[in-house]
Amino acid sequence: MNKKGQLIVISGFSGAGKGTVVKQLVERYGYSLSVSATTRAPRPGEVDGKDYYFKTEAEFRNLIDYNGLIEWAQYVDNFYGTPRKFVEDELAAGRDVILEIEVQGAAIIRKQYPDAMLLFITTKDVATLRERLMGRGSETEEQVAKRIRRAAEESRMINNYDYIVINDDLDTCIQTVHSVIMGGKCKRERNAEFIEQLQADFRDEA
Ligand code: 5GP
Repeated sequence: MNKKGQLIVISGFSGAGKGTVVKQLVERYGYSLSVSATTRAPRPGEVDGKDYYFKTEAEFRNLIDYNGLIEWAQYVDNFYGTPRKFVEDELAAGRDVILEIEVQGAAIIRKQYPDAMLLFITTKDVATLRERLMGRGSETEEQVAKRIRRAAEESRMINNYDYIVINDDLDTCIQTVHSVIMGGKCKRERNAEFIEQLQADFRDEA
């Protein structure tokens, strides 16, 4: 089969639980996870180099100028981007890499890496998303309304994605995402070289 790793993009509404899904995919199935660079300030408990590479705006611009990011986007008031070296090294070593990024970055990946697999994680409806956002307790009503408006915008970008997975039961969602990825890796188009080799081997037998 294709010896290169699979690039996987996972996006979803804030509150749909994609962070938990991604964490579990890494823990249970050993996916490689890209750590993004950001100009956002660390939240309590976040660790530099583990959750993000926290950068000043000047450092971030420097990364862009030196082609150090495979994609970047502005989200709310901050910049976020995916460091190039880690992703390319991991793919070359045959490891499947997850990028947990927002919709504009996903669109760039689609163009730069046509083989990438794009998955969108959602709640089953808007009411559930609102309930989850309010349930966090950390956000004001105005902040919840802002996130819902943002989700409405993002919902228009779902057409760019290959797969949509509902996060209703967490365990089912994790297993479904893993199965979808495994299924995608078996697609014939992705394994052209392997198939050619197999057919050539048979020709030698004939
Ligand atoms: P947060 O500030 O809540 O950690 O992340 C805000 C948004 O930025 C989330 O939707 C997250 O998926 C997205 N994000 C995180 N890293 C990257 C990145 O490297 N590139 C892009 N385009 N989005 C990112």
